Amino acid sequence: MYIGRFAPSPTGPLHFGSLVAALASWLDARASGGKWLVRMEDVDRPRVVPGASKRILETLRSCGLYWDGEPVFQSTRSAAYAAALERLRPSTYWCACSRREIADSSTGVAPDGAQIYPGTCRQGAAPGKAVRALRVRTDGSETLSFMDRVQGEVRQDVGAEVGDFVLARPGGEFTYQLAVVVDDADEGVTDVVRGADLLESTPRQIFLQRRLGYPTPRYLHVPAAVNAAGEKLSKQTGAPEATPADLPQALAFLGQRSAATLEAAVRNWDPARISRRRTIAFP
Ligand code: GLU
Repeated sequence: MYIGRFAPSPTGPLHFGSLVAALASWLDARASGGKWLVRMEDVDRPRVVPGASKRILETLRSCGLYWDGEPVFQSTRSAAYAAALERLRPSTYWCACSRREIADSSTGVAPDGAQIYPGTCRQGAAPGKAVRALRVRTDGSETLSFMDRVQGEVRQDVGAEVGDFVLARPGGEFTYQLAVVVDDADEGVTDVVRGADLLESTPRQIFLQRRLGYPTPRYLHVPAAVNAAGEKLSKQTGAPEATPADLPQALAFLGQRSAATLEAAVRNWDPARISRRRTIAFP
């Protein structure tokens, strides 16, 4: 049974880029006769905007993108994330390095622009220093590869290219990388369809799936919508809220034939027509 999902971060209203991701995952699920779940990724509490979840759900509904079951909110899932951390404990450690210290000692820059952590605290944080992040050891890991349904083969050596990444912070704060892996597994997600801005995160997620004994879903990354300056559309870059009138353009953005109704779009859905580019400017 196909189980797909759309996992927006409620940091603002649904903009065109998120509509593209929502439409692609909805079409792929419906064309496969599968389920389509919605999950609100509200783990990053300071960035959450009150009312944004409700608004996103209203936009999805107004666009005819109906979901199955009740939306799941990551803010209610702390116990599941803590249990996963417990299982990962043999390969995690608390790190007390400041951003500054990491920048000064870093061994390079990860694909997402973050500094690669040099592993300073692997043998224990210096006594008396406050811990800042729980990291997972990635040293000695092998190059991971997966076959993306649009982008083709993606390879990454998580240890060398990303380094020991953060799973949690003091005070019960969990990161996206941990939460998404636990939720996709607990919800039985078989197919992840999302924006290619997350392509570089996927090997980290597969790395955690393997450590936790979870199956790896199939992946399909669609081009991310960017503005004329090449920035991902977001509330910060001033992207307007999407409306049902944007659906034809979202379908065109995905390389699909135009369709008068969503039912017709489901019938015509052809992932082979999606561009392999990681980003496409919109409008
Ligand atoms: N919450 C993430 C975002 O809005 C998407 C996560 C995912 O699809 O895995 O960018």
